[in-house]
Amino acid sequence: MTGTVFDIKEFSLHDGPGGRVTVFLKGCPLRCKWCHNPEGLKKESQLLVKTAQCTNCGLCKKGCHHLECQPFGRCIKVCPKNLVRICGTEYEAKDLANKILEYSDFFELNNGGVTFSGGEPLLQHEFVKEVCSHLENVHKAIQTSGYADEEVFKSTIKCFDYVMMDIKIADREKHREFTGVYNDVILKNFQFLKNSGIPYIIRVPLIPDITDTEENLKGISKIVGTSPVELLSYNQMAGAKYESVGMQYSLTNDKNKEPDLSIFKNAILSK
Ligand code: SF4
Ligand code: SF4
Repeated sequence: MTGTVFDIKEFSLHDGPGGRVTVFLKGCPLRCKWCHNPEGLKKESQLLVKTAQCTNCGLCKKGCHHLECQPFGRCIKVCPKNLVRICGTEYEAKDLANKILEYSDFFELNNGGVTFSGGEPLLQHEFVKEVCSHLENVHKAIQTSGYADEEVFKSTIKCFDYVMMDIKIADREKHREFTGVYNDVILKNFQFLKNSGIPYIIRVPLIPDITDTEENLKGISKIVGTSPVELLSYNQMAGAKYESVGMQYSLTNDKNKEPDLSIFKNAILSK
């Protein structure tokens, strides 16, 4: 089975316990207004063009004979400024597992492992499960929005040693307004995760005036109770990649205020 990956980050220290290699899977059913990986939203491979630096010389549009360029109607090799690239590489599950296993010594030395992120890795759950089946002795973590069919969620997280799940907005209608979907299934999946015995942490992105309001943080605190929580500071570079995928970033980049950690019973703040 094959899956589509848009990045593999080596030596990460922020995507789970210890030193990690993070695999970013393409495709996400949500459309969070603050998403800082817009190139991960579409499931299919796509062309990225840094339009801000493009001089419109037209070279890349003239047509070429490279097989990999054909689906995109633009040459990725000819731009003198190297502004065009394909985002999304297809892997066989076994090949991706073998690539991850090349880092076994690093994992051992740093008490780490592999983390599957995205996009939303549960969108490619069959592929993820197959890759995991080849990684028996590797610590496996997943970063997920929790937005997936309940059976998919249950069967996939069972393959993992650690789950990092987002709860972004407590209010159902506001969740839909800012992420594109209702949070019902996310909250159901959280209940399963909580009782699963799998170590986990709930992650809350602090988006100015959207998720970092006292009302929302209190609402999330009520949902998660004593569960461990990581509050993620707003990434002020979140909008940087939008132009290269032909999208517009709609939020301002105002710095968020420090949240009141005492709202939660068991929270840490990550910068
Ligand atoms: S080759 Fe580069 S500079 Fe020329 S049109 Fe294409 S992206 Fe723009
Ligand atoms: S769930 Fe994550 S990847 Fe998907 S749109 Fe939201 S921030 Fe982006």
